Amino acid sequence: MTRYIFVTGGVVSSLGKGIISSSIGKLLQARGYNITIQKFDPYINIDPGTLNPYEHGECYVTVDGMETDLDLGHYERFTGIRTTRRNSVTTGRIYKTVIDRERRGDYLGKTIQVVPHITDEIKRRMLRVDDEQFDFVITEIGGTIGDIESAPFLEAIRQLRWELGKNAVSVHLTYVPYLKAADELKTKPTQHSVKEMQGMGIQPDVLVLRTEKHLSDGMRQKVASFCNVDLECVVQSEDMPSIYDVPVSMQNQGLDAAILRKFGIPVGEKPAMSGWHAFLEHQRNAQREVHVGLVGKYDLQDAYKSIRESLNLAGIYNEVKVKMHFINSEEITKENVGEKLAGMAGIMICPGFGTRGIEGKIIAAEYTRTHDIPTFGICLGMQMMVIEFARNVLGYADANSREMDSETPHNVIDIMESQKNLTEMGGTMRLGAYKCLLTEGSRVKAIYGSEEISERHRHRYEFNNEFMAQYEENGMLCVGKNPESNLVEIVEIPGLKWYIGTQFHPEYSSTVLTPHPLFMDFIKTIK
Ligand code: GLN
Repeated sequence: MTRYIFVTGGVVSSLGKGIISSSIGKLLQARGYNITIQKFDPYINIDPGTLNPYEHGECYVTVDGMETDLDLGHYERFTGIRTTRRNSVTTGRIYKTVIDRERRGDYLGKTIQVVPHITDEIKRRMLRVDDEQFDFVITEIGGTIGDIESAPFLEAIRQLRWELGKNAVSVHLTYVPYLKAADELKTKPTQHSVKEMQGMGIQPDVLVLRTEKHLSDGMRQKVASFCNVDLECVVQSEDMPSIYDVPVSMQNQGLDAAILRKFGIPVGEKPAMSGWHAFLEHQRNAQREVHVGLVGKYDLQDAYKSIRESLNLAGIYNEVKVKMHFINSEEITKENVGEKLAGMAGIMICPGFGTRGIEGKIIAAEYTRTHDIPTFGICLGMQMMVIEFARNVLGYADANSREMDSETPHNVIDIMESQKNLTEMGGTMRLGAYKCLLTEGSRVKAIYGSEEISERHRHRYEFNNEFMAQYEENGMLCVGKNPESNLVEIVEIPGLKWYIGTQFHPEYSSTVLTPHPLFMDFIKTIK
């Protein structure tokens, strides 16, 4: 039997619903349950793939090639589950399914409406009946209670709670602001948010109160009685030193136990979560700082979310605190590159699209190669390492990627034949996990400790194999290749401390309990 947990947010956005959903998932897993977590986003885009990172942060890619919200990264990092396209749903996808069906004539002449047609499609996806069997399906709803656009999702939850009875539980995350002048924490916004939900026919079972100051039992009691929620079902989410402390804090307050009781499931013993605690122990020991420069064009934390988390996790296991410094590639010149990269133990050349900031990435790659500063290039970052090598070692001053210069004869990064005729923005990329064979004797093979790996991609352009021999003769080796297409997935320069570029995105598969080997080795080298 599958049980359903719905996670909504109230008062303000950015409270960390994704972290709470992931923590609930983690705690239930620790009790031996098979779980999945999915995100329903109320915007109209079919997927976040075409969204500028300034709009919505990083685009996270699942193994089956779905471009999704960055919260799915939290789900995977916390729980180790592998999400798929079914774990990410938007209003746009819901409507598209319903409209396509209507065009095919499947509704036999009926009037198509938000209720029941849209809500039925939402419910169908929330239930995941034709999927793998889960003990718990956790569904996080994007946005905030009261948003016009999330109304159909809440109506679907209302109906499901009615239909599923005891097998559905609603968790609501709200904010309790602290007013400095009055020296008081205020629960009124929470009461309003719960009232709003009640107005839509949903009584939350569990409240998680986000707060910057500790809430007294009296406060929790007040919220419980004003909101019709049991006292043990009111927990608080205080600021923590790291997001990875949240599951433990939730467990100590009995969040998982409260949820299980709501389902009528015997609670049993509190699981030890020894692996997680061992990780937190490393985190406490990770005090010494190591500085890594992120050369990219997006000056916002969330744009490189998974890269940041992967560096952070690898740092923790190496017991160092990785201090990340954003270095705007648009501002890097041949004259100032030394100054810009000064003090960095290692450099990360970040992924991206389009011409903005690429020359700075190329200059950075040249500087780190010629000064033997450990460098990790991902996707566009790897492509820039390849272009730099062509320009400055192979002697092709006009070397470029087809993306940036469609005319150059030295198109060392080129469009794949199969992609040439595609014009629509969504869906023209190489997306999702592909196999890669690692070359005997290469550094990457030693790092991974295996010959065949599988990593996730999100790009249109590829290393041009016509130049492969020239690269290898001159010292940049193509050490990872797709076994079917022979496309180059990894380049490295042996002899340098660490100079590796990957066409794929290793950052998507780092998790708390299994940090990624490339990030681990990179940090081990520079620490
Ligand atoms: N813009 C490059 C491409 O499409 C790299 C993409 C990326 O870095 N994710 O191939």
